[in-house]
Amino acid sequence: MTPFVDRYLDMVRDQRLPHLIPLTLVKRQLLLRALANAPKPTSIAVSLTIDVETDDGHAYNGYNAPSVAPFLEHIGQLADQVNGGFTLFVQGDLAVPYAEPLRQLAPNHEIGLHGWHHELWGKPIWYSKITEQIPLDEKARRLQLAFDAFATAGLARPTSFRAPWLRIDDNVLHLLDQQGFVLDSSVFVARGAKPVIQQFGHLTRIPVSASPVPRLVRRSGIPVFTPYIALNMPTFLTASDENLLTLVGEIVTYQASVGCPPHLVILSHPWEYEPVAPRFAYQFDVYQRLAERFDWLATHYKTMLLPLSKLVV
Ligand SMILES: [Zn+2]
Repeated sequence: MTPFVDRYLDMVRDQRLPHLIPLTLVKRQLLLRALANAPKPTSIAVSLTIDVETDDGHAYNGYNAPSVAPFLEHIGQLADQVNGGFTLFVQGDLAVPYAEPLRQLAPNHEIGLHGWHHELWGKPIWYSKITEQIPLDEKARRLQLAFDAFATAGLARPTSFRAPWLRIDDNVLHLLDQQGFVLDSSVFVARGAKPVIQQFGHLTRIPVSASPVPRLVRRSGIPVFTPYIALNMPTFLTASDENLLTLVGEIVTYQASVGCPPHLVILSHPWEYEPVAPRFAYQFDVYQRLAERFDWLATHYKTMLLPLSKLVV
């Protein structure tokens, strides 16, 4: 299919858009009622995941990564402070340049793969300028490049994968399965997929967490958009305690109600931690704020901070 048709179909299927709102409103009411009556879990696993990529990777601007080095230097201290292990999805072509700090982190953290050069591994997003489709054999070649780079860097061959922009398709999932991957975290829950763990062949698929309950954005009183709130850094760091507690409750209560172990997966990037990427800089120390939020969460749930691969053992 042409990129235009791909993008058009992607838009039509986007559950957040107005043409699906009547249906979404009904689902929202049913879900809220079910969650209100469901038992709330008391113990949850929490995975902080970091897509280690060129700065502003999602805008595909240039090819430099000034926040990666300071991030890799500081993240280990946060892990010690909060007694946790994290998952780093590393852009393949950054493994060799950052081999030394990655090797130091590897014993206590999971080092997965985030594509080779932050390219598109699935269909384009309808509103994105990134539309270049790469044939499957070229994707296989780039996976091999990444395996070689990890080996050169002295890192174990990756078995966890997260596609850039969380875009993936069944052909790539089969390819990952064949290449020995056991975990994929490329599920776009912020568009209405459920935040639960699923199997695909030998792959365990763990989405970035988002509430299954759509919010309503109204204009002049009329609902025009129904976003699903994901546990990305802006949400996790800046939501009010009350809003975050509601969001977490919706996610983990839903998971428990469908028999999935209750867990949270937080999405972040080095350029959200370090002030060297000023466009994304927060007005506070992100490491400290994360530590505070983890402590706060532990006053509401018994929490364990684990890499993604440990969530499914
Ligand atoms: Zn990325």
